[in-house]
Amino acid sequence: MEARFLGCRIDNLDMQQTVDKIESFINSQTGAQIITLNAEILYQAQYDEELRELINQADLVTPDGIGIVWAARKLDKPVKERVTGIDLLQNLCFRAAEKGWPIYLFGAAPGVAESAAENLKQQYPGLNICGIRHGYFGLEDYEQIRADILSSKPAILFAGLGAPKQEYWIRDNLPLLGSIVCMGVGGSFDVLSGLKQRAPAWLIKLNLEWLYRLLAEPSRIKRQTVLPRFIWLVLKTKWRGKA
Ligand code: UDP
Repeated sequence: MEARFLGCRIDNLDMQQTVDKIESFINSQTGAQIITLNAEILYQAQYDEELRELINQADLVTPDGIGIVWAARKLDKPVKERVTGIDLLQNLCFRAAEKGWPIYLFGAAPGVAESAAENLKQQYPGLNICGIRHGYFGLEDYEQIRADILSSKPAILFAGLGAPKQEYWIRDNLPLLGSIVCMGVGGSFDVLSGLKQRAPAWLIKLNLEWLYRLLAEPSRIKRQTVLPRFIWLVLKTKWRGKA
């Protein structure tokens, strides 16, 4: 089941169905690219054909954030629920600990993913984190990074390089990584390591996580000016009657 609007495909699955779908990718050993799509990237994709194609060729695209869920509803393509990168990562770690899937953490500043790994292992006893690599590298490091990932034999690789950099990295490297399921997770390692705080649960429930992030990191203001433009685009699209 999928919803298609603003030129992009989004899979209409709830969290458990998403985890089940990813399990089926792991079982079929074909490798897969998972994108958790937020309003900022969907807006960017309106003006960037390569990004739009990247989203549409991904194996699974989840509605990451209230902006996407709201747009889907407005454009009469409602999706079941928000499936954010960090929530999906945690749900997958829970399943991975149960199933014995090895996990690789790639991204964030040196030391951050290591702390995130420690916390994840405490939260999900038995979780096998088979490899960790920080996210600051040049073209000359590509081969060594791939070699390290391949020799660690993960079932899932979480890439926390920020969007859409992580999505391009996965697109370019997935064909060389065999059967690994790769998913972009943005700044999740910063949160899981304790370096940054996620909004309190009551604010997330009120759909105000974006406001918390803006207040906690005022430097995001430039990025978040996309949000009113995204809302305007959705309303215009609705009035014109074509999603
Ligand atoms: N990052 C990285 N390599 C880079 C640029 C960024 O590993 O070349 C990391 C950065 O340290 C941070 C994450 O990518 O952990 C980006 O976080 P942000 O919250 O900006 O991402 P978003 O969730 O908004 O995509």
